Amino acid sequence: MQNIFDLTLEELKEILKPSFRAKQVWHWLYIAYQNDFNLMANIPKDLRAKLNESFSAKNLHIKEIQTSSDGTKKYLFLTNDNHSFESVLLKMKEQKIDKFGNTIQTPKYTICISSQIGCRIGCKFCRTGIDGLTRNLSCGEIIEQIVAIKRDNKILPQKRVNIVYMGMGEPLDNFDNLIKAIKIISNLDGLSISPKRQTISTSGISPMIDKLGEFNLGVQLAISLHAVNNETRNKLMPINKAYNIESIIESVRRFPIDTRKRVMFEYLMIKNINDDLQSAKDLLRLLNGIKAKINIILFNPHSGSNFERPSKESAESFASFLISKGLLATIRESKGIDIDAACGQLKYKDKLNKTKLKELEYKNKSKNKNVSYETKE
Ligand code: SAH
Ligand code: SF4
Repeated sequence: MQNIFDLTLEELKEILKPSFRAKQVWHWLYIAYQNDFNLMANIPKDLRAKLNESFSAKNLHIKEIQTSSDGTKKYLFLTNDNHSFESVLLKMKEQKIDKFGNTIQTPKYTICISSQIGCRIGCKFCRTGIDGLTRNLSCGEIIEQIVAIKRDNKILPQKRVNIVYMGMGEPLDNFDNLIKAIKIISNLDGLSISPKRQTISTSGISPMIDKLGEFNLGVQLAISLHAVNNETRNKLMPINKAYNIESIIESVRRFPIDTRKRVMFEYLMIKNINDDLQSAKDLLRLLNGIKAKINIILFNPHSGSNFERPSKESAESFASFLISKGLLATIRESKGIDIDAACGQLKYKDKLNKTKLKELEYKNKSKNKNVSYETKE
């Protein structure tokens, strides 16, 4: 049985005749979130039978949903071959002015999706990396996470959502499925999520960043930099020995980005490893001439690692230094911290003291007015 989400509209048109039927089926799948071919009312019975015979639109099964006190929802999906992995729905409030001049608040959604079950990159701070790679997610499995989450939350098809490839796995290590998924996700006859609303986060496999750039899809790029010298980065991310900081920066300089957009550099801050001001100074020098945005992430402790979370104060001084030098820097608010929804360490339920973590995160509200907090985007 083939996963119907693996097919582009053109591929489905080749199979379903007359070809306008393909568009109708796509409408059911991506606009009505219908995953039962029998309920696709305007599709003739014989064609529905053919669809049932050859395809499946139910390839991911929601095993568990955890909702955080801040509204973040973590989905545990089960694949048809019994592997589990997670995705996260982040809900933020967006201020808008209505036609009467009143300020209204509308929800703004970001869906954090996985690209692999496990990951072979093996970063020392990441829970996903510990068990290695089980398998790639198929193109259809990448896409179905979005459809399932939109369906479950009754998110209107026309409502804009952002997609971040920041769940489990290294997206550029599952390249062909990723490229096909991006194209299907942005198709105007389907989910219609513009590439500029899709952010690919990578540990920095420079040749693959170049390859992604060659496709010129218009997607946003996020680099998990985390360290400003190769010595520290080698220790945190063994992949740095193959593709070091300089090679990543070179690839970023070559990457085609919309002139109004910035490349995001994620900086996972770990106590006594990379939370000093000298690192902030080196970062400034490293990113010289790049239209960058730095997103500081406070390390989220878990049982698989001895690293410690830095103080909020050190993150704030780091960010203020960068801001004072004209860089755009934010500290990522750890949404869903009480349900371990920090991307990259999903799936695992640790026995950490969540209340303590939450206190760390929220108790001391920022004293520094220049530093803003934001969720992953
Ligand atoms: N493999 C890709 C995308 C998935 S990881 C990448 O590495 O970019 C998404 C993000 O989660 C990365 O920036 C990663 O550094 C971060 N992450 C991993 N473990 C974390 C932890 N324990 N605390 C906070 N962020 C973590
Ligand atoms: Fe893989 Fe990203 Fe985790 Fe590194 S941080 S092990 S690349 S998922």
